[in-house]
Amino acid sequence: MPDATSTFRYKRVLLKVSGEVLMGDQSFGVDMKTVDAVAKAVADVAAEGVEICLVIGGGNIFRGLSKAAAGMERSQADYMGMLATIMNALAMQSALEKIGVSTRVQSAIPMAAIAEPYIRRRALRHLEKGRVVIFAAGVGAPFFTTDSGAALRAAEMGCDALLKGTSVDGVYTADPKKDPTATRYETLTYQDVLAKDLRVMDASAIAMMRDTGIPIVVFSIREENSLRRTLTGEGTFTVIQDVA
Ligand code: UDP
Repeated sequence: MPDATSTFRYKRVLLKVSGEVLMGDQSFGVDMKTVDAVAKAVADVAAEGVEICLVIGGGNIFRGLSKAAAGMERSQADYMGMLATIMNALAMQSALEKIGVSTRVQSAIPMAAIAEPYIRRRALRHLEKGRVVIFAAGVGAPFFTTDSGAALRAAEMGCDALLKGTSVDGVYTADPKKDPTATRYETLTYQDVLAKDLRVMDASAIAMMRDTGIPIVVFSIREENSLRRTLTGEGTFTVIQDVA
């Protein structure tokens, strides 16, 4: 495997992609063209030795706190949301394997017929062997989201950064789609994000990254080559970390 350290800022990363991104221009479900595009971006950098963990959300299919779940017990609805993340993980695995990337899906909810159970040491071994590991079912518990799952796995895998691939190229002072005067932050501290309630990720995910010192890089995954450009430091993004 080539040495990724000379070209890329980070050697091992966790990429969190929300379910919303995988919808593409649809209003629900999985748009395989978009999944293929994300897979291609991952394959591109994985081929050069970047070790990649993936966490895919489930909001394109089901969310515990949604109208579709109204009247349902919260825990039950959240378990349905976790099952949605497993579907997305399988779609992403297909897209990656179709283009020759070796992958494993590990689920926080054991589902032996379709995925490995989450085993930390085994996941580390997969990464060392150059496989992309897709972590499904978040943290495996209700009242959490896949942001928290992403933070937890990034910490457990000893990732150098948590990349949050969204549809906006960073964190802005206001919603840039609604407010033309909004400006993008180059850098923020974890505390800034929490105090300003910037809603980049869940507060529990931000707090975990603050406690472990893992930087969060927010970028747009919709643009071609943006994952590579974020990893090489050339693209546009916002980095959240504490400055020494
Ligand atoms: N979920 C959960 N625990 C977890 C991860 C996910 O209960 O550890 C449920 C929760 O209902 C959530 C849904 O799964 O709304 C889908 O995940 P998320 O909302 O994080 O997806 P995204 O917004 O990233 O698409």
